[in-house]
Amino acid sequence: MPNNAHLLIVDPEIRAAAREALEPLGLEVVEVASGAALVAGWDPERTQLVLLDGTAPGLDSLALCGELRRFPGGEHAPVLLLVAGDDPDGVSRAFAAGATDFVCCPLEAGVLAHRARNLVHARQMATHLRRSEEKLAKAQRIAQLGWWEWDLEANTLVCSQEFYAILGLERDSFGGTYESLLRCIPRSDREELKGLIDATLRGGDPFSTDHRITRSDGAERIVYQQAEVSRDEAGDVVRLVGTIQDITERKRAEDQIRFLAYFDSLTGLPNRRQFTERLARSLQTAQRHNRLAALLFLDLDRFKRINDTLGHSAGDHLLQEVSSRLLTCLRKTDCVTRPSEIAAESVVARLGGDEFIVLLGEVNRVQDAAKVARRIVEVLSEPFVLQGQEVVVTTSIGITLFPFDGEDADTLLKNADTAMYHAKDQGRNNYQFYNESMNATAFERLVLEANLRRALERQEFVLHYQPQVKLQDGRIFGAEALIRWRHPEMGLVPPGKFIPLAEETGLIVPIGEWALRTACEQMRAWQEEGLPTVRIAVNVSSPQFADPGFAATVDRILRATGLLPEHLDLEMTESILMGDVETSILCLRQLKELGVWLSVDDFGTGYSSLSYLRRFAIDTLKVDRSFLLNVPDDPDHVAITSAIIALAHSLHLGVIAEGVESPEQVRFLRPQGCGDAQGFLFSRPVDAEEFRVLLACGRLDCPAD
Ligand code: C2E
Ligand code: MG
Ligand code: MG
Repeated sequence: MPNNAHLLIVDPEIRAAAREALEPLGLEVVEVASGAALVAGWDPERTQLVLLDGTAPGLDSLALCGELRRFPGGEHAPVLLLVAGDDPDGVSRAFAAGATDFVCCPLEAGVLAHRARNLVHARQMATHLRRSEEKLAKAQRIAQLGWWEWDLEANTLVCSQEFYAILGLERDSFGGTYESLLRCIPRSDREELKGLIDATLRGGDPFSTDHRITRSDGAERIVYQQAEVSRDEAGDVVRLVGTIQDITERKRAEDQIRFLAYFDSLTGLPNRRQFTERLARSLQTAQRHNRLAALLFLDLDRFKRINDTLGHSAGDHLLQEVSSRLLTCLRKTDCVTRPSEIAAESVVARLGGDEFIVLLGEVNRVQDAAKVARRIVEVLSEPFVLQGQEVVVTTSIGITLFPFDGEDADTLLKNADTAMYHAKDQGRNNYQFYNESMNATAFERLVLEANLRRALERQEFVLHYQPQVKLQDGRIFGAEALIRWRHPEMGLVPPGKFIPLAEETGLIVPIGEWALRTACEQMRAWQEEGLPTVRIAVNVSSPQFADPGFAATVDRILRATGLLPEHLDLEMTESILMGDVETSILCLRQLKELGVWLSVDDFGTGYSSLSYLRRFAIDTLKVDRSFLLNVPDDPDHVAITSAIIALAHSLHLGVIAEGVESPEQVRFLRPQGCGDAQGFLFSRPVDAEEFRVLLACGRLDCPAD
């Protein structure tokens, strides 16, 4: 629809002349007969011009003009009033009534056309400007962008609406001076901003900065300020004009993104990405200053079991605890850095899962890295409390040294990982340095696994037997069957070297079954020979125990070999039993129903929840060898050993001391009421042939009191 011009002119001749003058402007000329018709058909958007007849008697054009002005959108309408040329006050009255302009009667068509064109043009410009302003204001509102202008001489600060909105202020309460602006900025950021403003006023260069503001409601926000100077004709700085934008949300999002990209959300430690970047930087620094740096690669031992048995939230909690212990540990042992030089950074990061990494940005001697590693091993092996239960977790650490074990981050990390596996192989809960020969070890591990798979069919396993004796008189009452691998090249491989691998690969199930059957067969054979009947103890591994068919397997083997169940003792470590307590209770009950003996091996080293012990259908506790090692010299070990013996008594369980090596230990044990023992003092584990001889004798030397 084209834009229009409304004509309210009574005289038909003048009306026709006006139409003729206006039509060439491209406006659709609408003639109206009355003020009411004008108001009814008037569209402030489309009506570009209103021409009112101020000369016609009976038409109150002045009142009508005022009415149009009050109409929504009518305040900007160009209203042209026709006034009588001979009325000297007509023009003033027209303007007073709100007319935009006037034309005199008699009407000069050319004058009307000019005036009308100017008015239409001005209106279009004004509309355009108004729309731009509206758009700008809207854009500024959306962008949370305000502006201000500081007149230096008058010290007045004129600000946009959005400026006030950002500061949470009303225009009236602001104050409108430079100082009022500064008051909204926290003291800590104020001086810096003042410095920037001063520099801009002096040097004339614009500035931009992020800083905090305190809104009138006390909330703190972050804004981005930009400002530049305005000069007068003489080139003197007269004003500073600035914009202010609320970037709080963006900043928060940026911080969040940065956090997610660079930190581990569970522990808050740096993640792998951040760590590798920092490592690369640290290595450069170490190289420049000719320094040693060390990487400690940590993996929690058997962490999976915590997740499997106590649940993932307990696992998460444990990882958080581990991370905070690592941090404290590093703080305490960070004395390895030389204070006199530029401090090299030490970083703890989580690589994922239960893997952590520690970078010691500077170490003076190799032993310093070992010192930190030892401390970590110690600190982490102290019990954690998870869901009200005490849990003991250990860690294995692999260490690489820059530049010996690698000159770049990747190599150092890879080698530290290998060293960590070496630590696991060494029985976990320890640290190992990486060195060239360990590459060979990694290879050996692969070969070992391949060989282990074939060892059963090649009949390379043998059992050795270690007697268990009565401390009263040295009588042999039992034997523990201990497996060895007669490796064609490596010779007799002790179980510590292959059982962990067999457990990881699942090969322990057939190997364990073989050991059980062989031990039962052997004992049965000795019985048939007429040798004294003793109990044979066989070690059971976690995957065997977890197998629901385990009791049936034991039953089958007992029947097949003809060994009576009371002559078989199954040894399970405390941690196997504490894995899934309810299942353990059931399994133990099933086994107990068969009539076999059940012992807890290495007691005192695993999960120390004594309340469960009562519910386990067990017969004997085997005191772990590590406690006896320092008995009777170490008061702590004396206390633990005595406590375990007392505990066994109070639960009406048997107790066997493992690893008895000296007569002093025997003299300590006897009065405690521990009557059974096993250890090198009596005999090392020996092969079947030798054990047969011991058994035939039936008794071993036992120190007197
Ligand atoms: P364990 O069941 O605690 O066996 C006792 C270990 O302590 C044996 O080591 C034994 O030789 C050693 N020992 C006994 N008395 C003394 C002593 O007086 N001093 C010292 N220093 N050590 C002593 P071994 O034979 O190397 O076995 C190590 C572990 O391997 C066993 O610990 C057991 O956990 C595992 N193992 C052995 N045979 C089997 C098996 O057939 N199946 C499974 N699953 N594990 C086995
Ligand atoms: Mg054992
Ligand atoms: Mg043991």
